[in-house]
Amino acid sequence: MNWRMWQFENLKMKAGKFIFLLIKIALIFKLAHYQISTLSAQNYPQNYFRYPLDSLPNFVSPFGGLRDNHFHSGVDLKTNEREGFPVLASADGFVSRIKIQSTAYGKAIYLKHPNGYTTVYGHLQKYHNKIAQWIHAYQYKNESFEFDKVFEIPILLVKKGDTIGFSGNSGGSTGPHLHFEIRDNKTEEIINPALFGILPFDTIKPVFKKICFYNFSVDKSFIVSEFDLNENKILNNDSVWIYKDTIEIGNGLNALGIEAFDYIHNYKDEKTIYTFGLTLDTKNIFNFKLNKFAFDETKYINTHIDYAYYKLQQTRIQKCFLEDGNEIKLYLHDKNKGKFLLHDFNTHQLLFNVADFSGNYKKLIVYIKKKKDLIKLQNTNTAKIFYPNNHNALAKKDIKISIAPNSFYDTVYFDFEILNGTKKSFSKIYKIHNSLTPLHKNFEISIKATSVKKEYQSKLLLAYFDKNEKHFRSAGGNFEKGWVSAKASSFGNYFVTIDTISPSIEQVFIHDKKVVLDSLAWHIEMKDNFSGIAKYAAYLNNNWILMDYDAKNNLMSYKFDEIYDQIVLSKQKLELKIVVTDRKGNKSSKIFYP
Ligand SMILES: [Zn+2]
Repeated sequence: MNWRMWQFENLKMKAGKFIFLLIKIALIFKLAHYQISTLSAQNYPQNYFRYPLDSLPNFVSPFGGLRDNHFHSGVDLKTNEREGFPVLASADGFVSRIKIQSTAYGKAIYLKHPNGYTTVYGHLQKYHNKIAQWIHAYQYKNESFEFDKVFEIPILLVKKGDTIGFSGNSGGSTGPHLHFEIRDNKTEEIINPALFGILPFDTIKPVFKKICFYNFSVDKSFIVSEFDLNENKILNNDSVWIYKDTIEIGNGLNALGIEAFDYIHNYKDEKTIYTFGLTLDTKNIFNFKLNKFAFDETKYINTHIDYAYYKLQQTRIQKCFLEDGNEIKLYLHDKNKGKFLLHDFNTHQLLFNVADFSGNYKKLIVYIKKKKDLIKLQNTNTAKIFYPNNHNALAKKDIKISIAPNSFYDTVYFDFEILNGTKKSFSKIYKIHNSLTPLHKNFEISIKATSVKKEYQSKLLLAYFDKNEKHFRSAGGNFEKGWVSAKASSFGNYFVTIDTISPSIEQVFIHDKKVVLDSLAWHIEMKDNFSGIAKYAAYLNNNWILMDYDAKNNLMSYKFDEIYDQIVLSKQKLELKIVVTDRKGNKSSKIFYP
């Protein structure tokens, strides 16, 4: 950023601060009546951690939001679609970890505090002052942009409110914001920051969208009926909705699923709800609450929601019952884990309750009764059955798969088929079940390759695709004694293919402010066609130089600093050399005379 832009940004931020002050004063009276409706907050220190931006709490995404393969581990704080806001230490402490990645959290920093908690700040644009200097020296010493450094002893100390960096959009972030977490040092669990009093002002009630009925007459759960909660089906009294019709349900064990949303700042922006509960005839049978969880539990999102429904409809139905394979500790339930039987043909009452952290709630009453003339559901599936607790395997002449115990959340009727290969395959295509079944752990897969010249064997890898996809993706893997083996994370159609194409390297000139704010930089676009970029480096007149790598934009950026100045002052001719290698060892290098 040049000084003129900087001045302009600075002015805008000053104006912003003044408006925030006015809002703060206006809200003080309202806030006096504002109470947090949770008991749990009493266990956590209040007012210890400050909001890490110089603004009122404003969330893009709350704690525990339902994401692909994980619950959101922190809160995303709004930075008005812009980068460069000072990120402030939430409390006194020291820098306990710095992690820089081209994906995921991007430029992240961890602060350890004396009260037993660590705060985490992700997707930064850059770091500040002594922290930035330390990082710059470390990157040059190790000749690497990406690193993960844990500090056992305090070297870089911070005071509450100190600027530690600037908000950005680095790593996997898809829009400028600050990702913020509070973790317990002992258990390493991530805790809802609202429990520490960090939450936005919110008076908007959550809303129900859909309820689904499950039936367990056959030993696999699936949705047997679903009801949209549109206006003409609801008797409305604002906080309590009553569904107009009595719903008839099946024989045997039943259970529910709901689609519901919370809103924080406006009625359009759908957020994940903090808590929901279900009672049957006033007896509490199932409760869910997003207070805290551990990182190794986060993938249970795929059994918390109806995974197949999500894959097919892009709608997340949250189950009001617990699958046997679900071990994340977010629930309270009766001995049937939320499933229930109706013993008579009377009408019974289901009561759903959803609420946000601020105590705004909505209730939904649904009357149900057992169907008189029941159609018995029968399991006609003749496929091989895989049970969750077993080690499940398949071994054929040209393919082997091995699935560790506890990879499934539920019984799986395993679907396997051998299909003809294509021009790009070095094996048959194997249909390994389908992508609607989630996996908790990676599974091992080996496929025998058709004969390939020795020099190409190291370039072989596995590819996979979904039934509905035109393009196939790399599953990685290596060749050994005729077989290509990989660890795969999802089911689909697999085959052996080859990657002999080196990554491309091009200089690009970026004027789009959204991508790069700094004009005093060189930008190099590097792309790989298939296996993905494994290694990269940049040299200026034969000396390694630091280039930021932003994987989502395939972009390397060199921001001019004192090393560049030294070379320019010495009036040497500039030579920028980029070297990139993909995961199959295909290497490219290119020299630019910028
Ligand atoms: Zn986040």
